[in-house]
Amino acid sequence: MSRSHALENATAYFDDGRFFTDLQRRVALRTESDTGGVPPALAAYLSDELMPRLAAQGFDCRIVPNPDPRGGPFLIARREEDPALPTVLSYGHGDVVSGQEGQWREGLDPWQLRAEGDRLYGRGTADNKGQHTIALGALEAVLAARGGRLGYNLCWLIETGEEAASPGLAAVCAQEREALRADLFIASDGPRVQAGRPTLFLGSRGAVNFTLTLNSRPRGYHSGNWGGVLVNPATRLAHALGTLVDARGRIRVEDLRPPALDEPLRAALRTLQIGGGPDDPALDDGWGEPGLTAAERLVGWNTLEVLALGAGNPQRPVGAIPPQAVAHCQLRFVVGTPWQQLKEIVRAHLDECGFEDIEVAVTLTGAATRLPLDNPWVSWALQSIARSCGQRADLLPNLAGSLPNEIFAGLLGLPTLWVPHSYPACAQHAPNEHLLASVAREGLQIMAGLYWDLGEPGQAPWQAGALKAGAPA
Ligand SMILES: [Zn+2]
Repeated sequence: MSRSHALENATAYFDDGRFFTDLQRRVALRTESDTGGVPPALAAYLSDELMPRLAAQGFDCRIVPNPDPRGGPFLIARREEDPALPTVLSYGHGDVVSGQEGQWREGLDPWQLRAEGDRLYGRGTADNKGQHTIALGALEAVLAARGGRLGYNLCWLIETGEEAASPGLAAVCAQEREALRADLFIASDGPRVQAGRPTLFLGSRGAVNFTLTLNSRPRGYHSGNWGGVLVNPATRLAHALGTLVDARGRIRVEDLRPPALDEPLRAALRTLQIGGGPDDPALDDGWGEPGLTAAERLVGWNTLEVLALGAGNPQRPVGAIPPQAVAHCQLRFVVGTPWQQLKEIVRAHLDECGFEDIEVAVTLTGAATRLPLDNPWVSWALQSIARSCGQRADLLPNLAGSLPNEIFAGLLGLPTLWVPHSYPACAQHAPNEHLLASVAREGLQIMAGLYWDLGEPGQAPWQAGALKAGAPA
């Protein structure tokens, strides 16, 4: 059997309706993880839906309880053909954000998969059930084409708390390091840059959320009786924000800015088109770091956003000096930014600017990752994708958003390749979430090609000699 058989099998899985049936069952399980609880559907998704399927393909499956009570269980499924062969780690999440029932368009139900034109509507179709259903379908297609073997070992890690910020994921990866040992990481989540072209991304920007608070006094005072003799915390906080980021969105604190873009990064970003889709907002001219393209600002640079701002009561202002002002801010950043020191950096900066009275608190952190562009897996994956679908993938050095990729790239030390099957207007996390049928079908072919090529001796850049243990059938 051949590579083209594998791709034909994967295409048939879509065309004969099996993909729809599998996804329909998965969407119907209400695996909401962001509602403050751990519903039984999370464990059921793993044990009733995924485990039987993976076990039938020769995976040893094990449910791992979450050491963090805020999160659902994990599934670790390992398919070992030969301990001497290299191993791929794949990842997905079975949980979804809340269904938001009643807010979907007439005729749509978050828990019922519905096909309309090129769209497959349902909660989790884009994030992430549709995406791991594509990977699992492609895997079956390759196994069938290669006589029941892959030519390498494969491990699946499925979590059920991604939409609740992945509680316990790092702890489980540390605890199960041996069960998860691998040589390469491949997963699918998030959107393509453009619906019509595949995307390969190699990591993600990180994020630090921090809060600036100025508590001037316990209560408000009449602005006529006391204005001019009492500090206004809202005024001071607004000026403090202006010293962090200017009126055009340029970061003013040197240590919060990323290293300069190098030429390979610039080259990768040159062909990326940002926005322009029917549901995308128009980009604002003159916003962000001057001298950079939109792709460079979004993917290769840092941004400091004010997420929420508060003083007094904007719904019902009164003639008083507010007692307190607060700004919830966020730095999105690329690799090379000293984000671990954000609190100290912001503190020193505010002190220097005379804002010693403003408190800084870091509330959430996530690291940035990016597999180096010259890693041999990058060109290997681009070639495999182009061979499967006839066009070159957009190479995104890192996702502009954030993912728990540091756990795979840092903690587990793996080269990380992400091949997303969603697209920017998929309404992920909102009513009317959908997957494009055309992208899912192409995604099946792309994944089948990748899973096939990984087992071809001499093609995939495994460490020298790693594939010598077995020749494919
Ligand atoms: Zn999500």
